[in-house]
Amino acid sequence: MKRNRKAKILATIGPASSTSEVIENIFNAGCDVFRLNFSHGSIETHRKNLDSIRGLEKKYNHATCILADLQGPKLRVGEFEKTEENLKKGQKFILDLNSELGNSQRINFPHPDLYENLTPNSTLLINDGRIRLQVIKQKSDQLITEVLNDGIISNNKGVNIPDVILPIDSLTNKDRSDLQKALEMNVDWIALSFVQKAEDIIKLKKIVDGKALIMAKIEKPSAVKNIDEIIEVADGIMIARGDLGVEMPTEKVPIIQKNIIKRCRHYGKPVVVATQMLESMITNLVPTRAEASDVANAIYDGTDAVMLSGESAVGDYPVESVATMNKIIENVEKDKNNFNLEVESLNNLKKIDNTDAITNAAYSIANNAGAKAIITFSVSGKTTMRMARERAPVQIIGLSPNLKTSRRLQLLWGVNSCHSSQDAANTTEMVNIACSVAKNKNLVKADDSVIITAGVPFGNAGSTNLLRIAKIIANEDLN
Ligand code: PGA
Ligand code: MN
Repeated sequence: MKRNRKAKILATIGPASSTSEVIENIFNAGCDVFRLNFSHGSIETHRKNLDSIRGLEKKYNHATCILADLQGPKLRVGEFEKTEENLKKGQKFILDLNSELGNSQRINFPHPDLYENLTPNSTLLINDGRIRLQVIKQKSDQLITEVLNDGIISNNKGVNIPDVILPIDSLTNKDRSDLQKALEMNVDWIALSFVQKAEDIIKLKKIVDGKALIMAKIEKPSAVKNIDEIIEVADGIMIARGDLGVEMPTEKVPIIQKNIIKRCRHYGKPVVVATQMLESMITNLVPTRAEASDVANAIYDGTDAVMLSGESAVGDYPVESVATMNKIIENVEKDKNNFNLEVESLNNLKKIDNTDAITNAAYSIANNAGAKAIITFSVSGKTTMRMARERAPVQIIGLSPNLKTSRRLQLLWGVNSCHSSQDAANTTEMVNIACSVAKNKNLVKADDSVIITAGVPFGNAGSTNLLRIAKIIANEDLN
């Protein structure tokens, strides 16, 4: 599937998009990565959607990419006798370990490990910060709080506690069980919510054991503080602005977003900007001007991808939301005056290995010698990832004999990731395979020159040491 843009689109699949028809329409409208959100929905539904997504591969001759998003240690209150209660500013309200249904005076808060860590003055934010509770007395099984503003509290609402490093496991029992299911389904990426430190990712990596790539969702102040260590160990980063904007002052979110994108580009790790990008399209056919600007500015900043959540999962216009994002990105990328994503010189990197030397050379040739595409042969995907980092002005055709690699790389900026079951035995074959895949997929035409990178001996991961410039020839000239 050829897209006329470099930045990618992730769309969350939910009740509004859980049929094979809508999934296909979302794909055709421009979705590059499908997000299955394990905070909601049954495993059966996720599996059925996964089958619909993978079903597109044959029909469109295109490797599909699926991200499974784990809920992580999201805190929640229990349920109320009357479903919801109206809390008044200044009243006392108790959170406790009592499993009975709640009322206007108390509610179950089933996270026993936390009670000891909260102190008077700790603030709890309920329902995305709509109600704030301040702890005034803390016991091992009860938190007595004062309500700081009027508001409605209802069943199972989320609780954020920004200023405390939570002493709870970054992977809950639900996450562990969802993770096993997701790995059995062969998803391509696993995202973890509420990451606080690099060790959370290292721990997850041990369990995943290379079966999927790992994305750290940045939505806690502690993750922002530890961002460099987290970027180094994760395979990708999501700027999860929804919870981030609850845990930190909203006015900090744009600054953190720019800062994280810059760092991810420096390290060459893909980064996704998420949440509320086209929020009003949940109920409207057109976005607000501010939303169009928000998507555009993320692209100007050089993000790899932008994401839809409620818009495609529960909104009235899932397909239109993807199409709108697609149009906004295409237009920004056509803006010759302002859109230039040149990265800082490689000298800023501590050490340059062969792969970086080659991808940097490919960038220069593409920039100066009029090549139409860069074709990267890559078994593990590492070379293609380093190539994406360069933000070259031409498309990158990522070729891998490994279907898993091809699927994973659809997330990367500028990469058209293609699976080619043929592996090259020598350089001549390499050039032939590269040129014929590019031509058969209509990505280049006769007389175009292309740059090809690969590693010899072929079939080995991590040995990129070769760069060729080749000319595409017309079929009738082949003999
Ligand atoms: P969520 O994560 O949709 O899983 O909460 C994204 C965010 O918080 O922005
Ligand atoms: Mn979140």
